[in-house]
Amino acid sequence: MYIAAVLEKEGIKAEILDLTPGRSAVVARLRSTATPDPSKALLLVAHMDVVGVEKSKWTVDPFAAVEKDGYLYGRGAIDDKGMLAANLAAFIALKRANPRLNRDVIFLATADEEQFGDASVKILIAKYWDKFAAGFALNEGGEVLLKNGKVQYVAVQASEKVPVNVTVIARGTSGHASMPTKDNAVVHLAAAVAKIGNYSAPVRFTTIVRRYFEQLAAIEDDEMAKWMRSLDTPDRGEHAQRVISDANPLWNSMLRDSIAPTMLTAGVRANVIPGEARAAGGADETGERSADPFRDPAGCGTGGAAVFAGKRIVCHNYKGRGERVFQCAGAAVSVHGGHGFRAIEAARRPGLRFSAVPTERRGFAADAWRR
Ligand SMILES: [Zn+2]
Repeated sequence: MYIAAVLEKEGIKAEILDLTPGRSAVVARLRSTATPDPSKALLLVAHMDVVGVEKSKWTVDPFAAVEKDGYLYGRGAIDDKGMLAANLAAFIALKRANPRLNRDVIFLATADEEQFGDASVKILIAKYWDKFAAGFALNEGGEVLLKNGKVQYVAVQASEKVPVNVTVIARGTSGHASMPTKDNAVVHLAAAVAKIGNYSAPVRFTTIVRRYFEQLAAIEDDEMAKWMRSLDTPDRGEHAQRVISDANPLWNSMLRDSIAPTMLTAGVRANVIPGEARAAGGADETGERSADPFRDPAGCGTGGAAVFAGKRIVCHNYKGRGERVFQCAGAAVSVHGGHGFRAIEAARRPGLRFSAVPTERRGFAADAWRR
């Protein structure tokens, strides 16, 4: 409602697209011609919703947008209200400048990106696609990296990893804690979780990840650049992969499938051995996979691989199984390089030197549904 009012004040017609009670999207359009050509249209999209907060861990009110030391503090400041505000400002500036447009420019504010429920972009597309059909879309993702107070590079997200939530279940004999058993589900689950937590999948280069490191090597310091250039070499590759992975958790995630245990559930009383114990984990598959990415790359000797494969994990004396509980649609790759990148570089402020670098994102921003 707020966004629609801001647009209306500028003389831009805003339309509210209802999804579920209390949740809607907002769309507006600057026309280039009387009849729209969706294949040429440019979509500026950002989501309005944010994830929940643990209020006690915040030093400021998370929903008050507090300005402190030159920073804006608040839930969603980065994800994704900053982009939403920038999109809105750019859209309004374009309207005020009133240039002759060679394509329609569409503004879209979406709901339910974080939970991905009944008001998500998937539902929005199914119900209202013709309202914002576009040939090009700029969405969240990527990052601007500052080094010594200067912009080092602008990473433009051109693909993303595919998240897969998994549950690992261990089963054993239940009973009183005064008589320990060899098949205690908690013990076996704990062993499996430790194994999964220590698992490191083999490196897989996607086109985007390869380009990312190639281009980053051109602007990184000599030492890092050397290892980036060696990533896929037969003699120094393995060592380089270790150096790069250890240097930055972001790089580690870009280079491989990854999995992190996140939730544990077992037992009802301290003196009762439960018959079942469960752990959940968030896994991220690297992009550019074929239809079924689930393989067991390292054999069932590694807990993580077995979970990725959705197989029974029996290798480490663990009675139970891994289960995929959620899988996002496979992410396709956007066009990288070309006009889009040159336009972003051309748009930089005078005096700023940086490169636009394609990047593959960890996690996902529901882009797969738009491609
Ligand atoms: Zn987001």
